[in-house]
Amino acid sequence: MNIILLGPPGAGKGTQAKRLEDRRGLVQLSTGDMLRAEVKSGSDLGERARGLMEAGQLVPDELVIGIIANRIDAPDCKNGFILDGFPRTVAQAEALDAMLAQKAMGLDAVVEMKVNDAALTERIVGRFTCAGCGEGYHETFKRPVKDGVCDKCGGTEFTRRKDDNEETVKSRLQAYHEQTAPILPYYADRGLLLEVDGMADIDEVTRQIDAVLEDAAAG
Ligand code: AMP
Repeated sequence: MNIILLGPPGAGKGTQAKRLEDRRGLVQLSTGDMLRAEVKSGSDLGERARGLMEAGQLVPDELVIGIIANRIDAPDCKNGFILDGFPRTVAQAEALDAMLAQKAMGLDAVVEMKVNDAALTERIVGRFTCAGCGEGYHETFKRPVKDGVCDKCGGTEFTRRKDDNEETVKSRLQAYHEQTAPILPYYADRGLLLEVDGMADIDEVTRQIDAVLEDAAAG
């Protein structure tokens, strides 16, 4: 199954994508993670993306389209993938369609995680990640069972994203409403758009995603 998770920053796309990976054997393709890896490695691409990411703006379409085109060619994507953070513009959605058609692949579902903007800043500024295994946490909503120790791998080092601050979140939300929200009708017109309540707790959102995907698979 090839799925897109769509929603503003902080909607919980990354969390749910990881769960879908574990439960369905799909691979998570996060352009944000790929770009952060490029920035970390100091590559030319990373250098082009860094300032825009820190300002909460989108990086140019051709840059992310190139990254995804390469990644989708890898053998592990043959069993199905979850796109998290891509596409983010109509041009990216069109490029994705063309790319998949060329490989005789297609999309099965686009899941929109609906959330109120008001909740997003608190969700985003409180989040942190285990440096060892990437498990996500939140100061208020999901603390490790033992303070300072990752529930999943026992690691004791945690990281925070540089763009997870109040100032940058405003720009990221603006980018979502202006540039990304227009792709919702694009997928609705193609009969692919499904909705879940991203304000519900994490397990409930997972249940809703499972339910809409089962319905979609049943046709
Ligand atoms: P994310 O981890 O999805 O929140 O993405 C973090 C940042 O990476 C965004 O604020 C953008 O600067 C950049 N980015 C990630 N995915 C895309 C994309 N599909 N198109 C443009 N910029 C992106």
